[in-house]
Amino acid sequence: MINVTKTYIPDIDKYKSYIDQIFASGWLTNNGILTQQLESRLTQYLGVKNLLLVSNGTIALQICYKLLGLKDDVITTPFSFVATVSSLCWEGLNPVFVDIDPETYNIDVEKIESSITSKTTAIVAVHVFGNPCDVEKIEQIAKKYNLKIIYDGAHAFGVNYKNKSVLNYGDLTTLSFHSTKVFHTIEGGAIIINNDQLYKKAKLMINFGIPAPDQVLCLGINAKMNEFQAAMGLCVLDDIEKIYHSRKKVFYFYLNYLNDISLIKFQLIDQQSSNNYGYFPILL
Ligand SMILES: *Cc1c(COP(=O)(O)O)cnc(C)c1O
Repeated sequence: MINVTKTYIPDIDKYKSYIDQIFASGWLTNNGILTQQLESRLTQYLGVKNLLLVSNGTIALQICYKLLGLKDDVITTPFSFVATVSSLCWEGLNPVFVDIDPETYNIDVEKIESSITSKTTAIVAVHVFGNPCDVEKIEQIAKKYNLKIIYDGAHAFGVNYKNKSVLNYGDLTTLSFHSTKVFHTIEGGAIIINNDQLYKKAKLMINFGIPAPDQVLCLGINAKMNEFQAAMGLCVLDDIEKIYHSRKKVFYFYLNYLNDISLIKFQLIDQQSSNNYGYFPILL
């Protein structure tokens, strides 16, 4: 079998030592020690203000829609993994597709405005294969029409734009830490939240709206990461530079051999962006 992608498996002894810690403490979930450690390491590593770990990248999107109180129509891209759009439908929102730019594969910002109506409440854009959207133009449009911006950043782990994390753009950005992604926690995800108030609210929402044992403050759901996921994340994060490096080697191997084939075109990557080498898309 030739894998489309291969899950990164860290050193088993390191993982076991975390498992020993979990067993010794008896603390398996509900914002445990390892989840707290991973959250603070990722916040620092990615250069973001608030990062909230959740159980997967799809629920991360769903929490975002609830957090911003979206309703009616949401502008999004037809070119993504299904979860970008299915999460909208699941929350009772209407996805309105705006076509992509054939070079960058991201939502075509020139086509957004003509799709905005009085029912539009947000733009959900994807940094496709880690290639940053035209974040400045999207911000300009959102300001003009008073729309929220959510980026599905599932592919954009560790990607910088103009030397800072691309995850800082928009109202919210989501990440997926599924096993197929560059960085993973078996299953998992995160929400990047610039606004401190929203961060506090999101923290409640992922745990049924419960701030204390005898209180339920708001409508919530169960979106918590558990300690076994966090342990995997801590192991994989230790090796992240190694992961980029080995992917980079494969990336340039492909590029070298496919470059001269005129039938094959490559994604146009933003010049001011870094690459995590998570994907090597070709266009035929
Ligand atoms: C992987 C992925 C998701 C879903 O993340 P899960 O962690 O698998 O729920 C959402 N959007 C995009 C673009 C993805 O690639």
